[in-house]
Amino acid sequence: MEHTTTHALPFPHVELSGFDAGLTEQETAAQAVIHRFAAEVMRPIGRALDRMDPDHAYAEGSPFWDFHKAAATLGMGPEALEGLDPRAAARLEALVIAEMGWGDVGLAVSSGAGEMPLRGALASGDPELIELCQGKLGCWIATQPDRGSDGLILYPQERAVGAKGTVGNLTARFIGDEIVVNGQSSAWVSNGCVAQVGLLDIVADYGQGYHDAQGDTYGCNVIVPLDVKGVSRGKPLRKLGKRALPQGEIYFDQVRLPRRFAIATRDDYEIKHAMAWAHAGTAMSHLSAGLARAAFELALAYTNERKQGGALLADLQLTQFRLGQLGAKVEAIKAMSRHVADYTRTSPAPHPYFTAAGKAFCSSEMFTVVNESLQLFGGVGLTQEFPIEKLMRDARAMQIEDGETNILFMHYGFLLAQMNRAGAWGKN
Ligand SMILES: Cc1cc2nc3c(=O)[nH]c(=O)nc-3n(C[C@H](O)[C@H](O)[C@H](O)COP(=O)(O)OP(=O)(O)OC[C@H]3O[C@@H](n4cnc5c(N)ncnc54)[C@H](O)[C@@H]3O)c2cc1C
Repeated sequence: MEHTTTHALPFPHVELSGFDAGLTEQETAAQAVIHRFAAEVMRPIGRALDRMDPDHAYAEGSPFWDFHKAAATLGMGPEALEGLDPRAAARLEALVIAEMGWGDVGLAVSSGAGEMPLRGALASGDPELIELCQGKLGCWIATQPDRGSDGLILYPQERAVGAKGTVGNLTARFIGDEIVVNGQSSAWVSNGCVAQVGLLDIVADYGQGYHDAQGDTYGCNVIVPLDVKGVSRGKPLRKLGKRALPQGEIYFDQVRLPRRFAIATRDDYEIKHAMAWAHAGTAMSHLSAGLARAAFELALAYTNERKQGGALLADLQLTQFRLGQLGAKVEAIKAMSRHVADYTRTSPAPHPYFTAAGKAFCSSEMFTVVNESLQLFGGVGLTQEFPIEKLMRDARAMQIEDGETNILFMHYGFLLAQMNRAGAWGKN
């Protein structure tokens, strides 16, 4: 139906991010810059890398490195939020990360994970560590072959009865002024096979073994330059989705680091680990918002082109109903991601299980949107003629990345039950 009569209600106001109003000038400008970068740089490079063999995709001179060179000129690294109050920082970060997710979620994670060591170094305030990380591609080395979901357990009651915290395959021993690291990461470390610096988030022995009296493991966060003696890499992983993101094992053989490279040790590890994980969960929620919108926009455009039974798909009521449901989900994911980000930055006591619930909600709803958007294409949605099939594969990876969806909801449910039992929530 044409909206040309004078009686028709005008269209509502929308921004690049959909139904948004009240963005500041700075926010609109940042969103526009990143949107353009996402459209002109991230999408073409992401699609090219998706079709390349992983053995060549991340080699020197590949489009992967062109992306990082171009991204470095945007000035949107962790320093960009310095000086903003927490609420403004949460808003700006939400807009920027969602646009990057709209561009390519694999490259967006390469960029985000790439900043993790620098974020840790900046928080420590240590100029030596900041210099060590600045201008380098980083990675976050947390999971291992024998320590996946169980690395995310924060309370002893969540473990199987009698079980101790899992030590895993990669550990640090603090001996005098040195840290000695041995073992291997999982194959899933984002940027793992190409990163220049890493943030270790692993179990540690401070001289009394790996466990405390409750059976919890001691942990540490250590900045590690990945060109030191004893570090080697696995081959880039061959995988279903997020193929623009290089992933692979990192091996440590008697790697010796000065103790001053540790930015979290026995007493402050839990809280710093929780905050780093909460940051990652928030970013993943924004990425889901961007990816959901990208898929929905493709479906919306397609239904306005494809004719069946003599009518455009978009003129059929069933299609309009499906578009309405998906469009509402796109807005709900965005709202939840921003709520989680705002709460995490402004709450006097944030919690990574709440952030995890946000990530699980946003990524699982996003998967529904991407899946149903592909469905609106019919058979052609399965082919490489349209980018929707790539978005579907990328979306699939996000159901496991940074915590598998069921596990994250389980942690949140555990927290709610404990809070209720203690009279901290829900007993008004
Ligand atoms: C795209 C991507 C990027 C990633 N990036 C990084 C990174 O940068 N750094 C990093 O360190 N890691 C990274 N990871 C790893 C990721 O965090 C893990 O894959 C994830 O936490 C799940 O661990 P797992 O693969 O070992 O699965 P598992 O823990 O083995 O889980 C397998 C299945 O068992 C279920 N399960 C596990 N425990 C329980 C339980 N107690 N009760 C009931 N069911 C259970 C899970 O729900 C899941 O369905 C990445 C993964 C992906 C896919």
